[in-house]
Amino acid sequence: MEKVQIAVVPSPGFTHLVPILEFSKRLLHLYPEFHVTCIIPSVGSFPTSSKAYLQSLPPTISSIFVPPITLENVPDVTVLAVQIELSVNLSLPYIKEELKSLCSRAKVVALVVDIFAHGALDFARELNLLSFIYLPQSAMLLSTYFYSSKLDEVLSSESRDPKEPIQIPGCVPVLSGDLPPPFQYLSSIGYKKFLERAKRLRVADGIFTNSFLELESGAIRALQEQVKGKPTVYPVGPIIQGGLIGHENGLECLTWLDKQEPKSVLYVSFGSGGTLSQEQFTELAYGLELSGQKFLWVVRAPNSVTSSAYLGAAIKDPIQFLPNGFLERTRKQGLVVPSWAPQIQVLGHASTGGFLSHCGWNSVLESVVEGVPVIPWPLFAEQGLNAAMLTDGLKVALRPKVIHSGLAEREEIAKVVRELMEGKEGMEIRRRMEHLKNAAANAIKEDGSSTKTLSEVAAKLRGF
Ligand code: UDP
Repeated sequence: MEKVQIAVVPSPGFTHLVPILEFSKRLLHLYPEFHVTCIIPSVGSFPTSSKAYLQSLPPTISSIFVPPITLENVPDVTVLAVQIELSVNLSLPYIKEELKSLCSRAKVVALVVDIFAHGALDFARELNLLSFIYLPQSAMLLSTYFYSSKLDEVLSSESRDPKEPIQIPGCVPVLSGDLPPPFQYLSSIGYKKFLERAKRLRVADGIFTNSFLELESGAIRALQEQVKGKPTVYPVGPIIQGGLIGHENGLECLTWLDKQEPKSVLYVSFGSGGTLSQEQFTELAYGLELSGQKFLWVVRAPNSVTSSAYLGAAIKDPIQFLPNGFLERTRKQGLVVPSWAPQIQVLGHASTGGFLSHCGWNSVLESVVEGVPVIPWPLFAEQGLNAAMLTDGLKVALRPKVIHSGLAEREEIAKVVRELMEGKEGMEIRRRMEHLKNAAANAIKEDGSSTKTLSEVAAKLRGF
C-alpha cells in the first residue's frame, strides 16, 4: 500500500534541522504507516554535524536539498533569527518546486515547517495540505509570540517602570532584559520581524511545541485559552536527539568522565554556536579554576557577537585565547575541548553533576531529561526566557549575578559553581531536577501526555 507522505521543511542551522527531524522520527516510530520527505534549505556549505546527522536517519525519511544560498546573498542583519528567516525566503521558489513535484508523485497529506520557514505555509494552502509549524522551543516562547501585540503596547507605554517584571500569560514574570533580543530594540528590524512572524503563526492549522504539560503547564494552558480555534497547540516533547553523533572529541570526553567521581563534573557549553567576549571568556576561565570543581569545558574562540559561530564554523584555534598557564594549572581539574562535545552522552554520564549552559532550548530539555541542574548563562534568542523559567519558575537552576556591563565576574562564577555542585541550595535544586526528569520520562511513555497529543495528530493525518 502506498505510504502517506508528510513533507517537512527545516531552516538552516544544525539546531533547526535536527529538532524537526527528531520530531519526524518520533512520529514515524509511533506511526510507521507514514513517510517523511525533508526539503532542506541551507546557507553556504552544509555543516559537517548536519551531514553526519542526515546519514544516521532511517529509510522512512528521505532528504531533498534545494540549492544553497550563499552567505553574501543573505541580507546583513545582526539578528540571527532574521538572517535565518530571510535566507529561507530566498529558497522558497525551490522549496515550492520540490513540494509540487512531491505532491504529483505521492499522496502528501501535510506540510510541517520550522518556525523560520513559515513562508512555505502558503504552499500548503495552494496544494490543499494540512499545515503545521514545528517550534523546537518552549511554550513560553510561543506564548510570547501570541502575546506580542499586547506586549508591544505595554513596552511602548511611556509610564511603564522598566524594572517592573513582565507577565506573559501562564509564565513566570520576567524582567524586560530577559525578553528575546528584538524586544530590547523596539525600532529594530528584528522586532518588526518578530511581530510579523507572530501574525504568521495563525496561518497554520496547528503548532507543535517541544515541551510537555508537566514542564510548562501554565504556559500550555494559557496558550490553549489564548489561541481559541485555529491553530491548535500541540505539546509533544521532550524530543531530544538520540544516538552518538560521531566527532573526534567524543571519545576523549567520555573516557575522561569515566575517571571522575559521580556527579563531580560541571559541563560547560554554549550550544552549537554561542561565543563569549574575550573579557568574559577570561573571567569564566578564572572562575572555573577558582571554584576548585572539576569541569569539562567546550571552548570556542571569543567574539563580541554572541551567536557568531552559529551559521558558520569558528575557524580560530580557541585554546590560544585562554589565560596564560590555564591549561597547565587545571590539568588535573578539568578537560578543555575545542568546539564540540557529545553533549547528550556527557549529560547522561554518571560523573556529570551540573551544566553551565547558554540555555538553548535543546540544551534545557537535554538537561531535564538527564536530571542535571543548570547554571544559566543566556546569550541570544529566547535564552533569557529559558533562564528565567529554570531559575525563578522551576527552581532547578542557580544564576550568576552580572555587574552593570553585563559581565559575570570570576568570584561570582566560582561561588555559584561551588554552590550548585556541593552547596545546600544545590542539593535542593538537584532534588527538584530529579522530579522533572521523572516527569519528562512519563510524558513520552505510551500513556504519557505528549504521546497522547501525537496520537491525536496522527488520527487527523490519517483522516485527511
Ligand atoms: N551540542 C552538542 N555538542 C556541543 C554543543 C551542542 O552535541 O558541543 C548539541 C546539543 O546537545 C543540542 C544542540 O547541539 O542538542 C544545541 O542546541 P541548543 O538549542 O541548546 O542551542 P543552539 O545551538 O540552538 O544555540
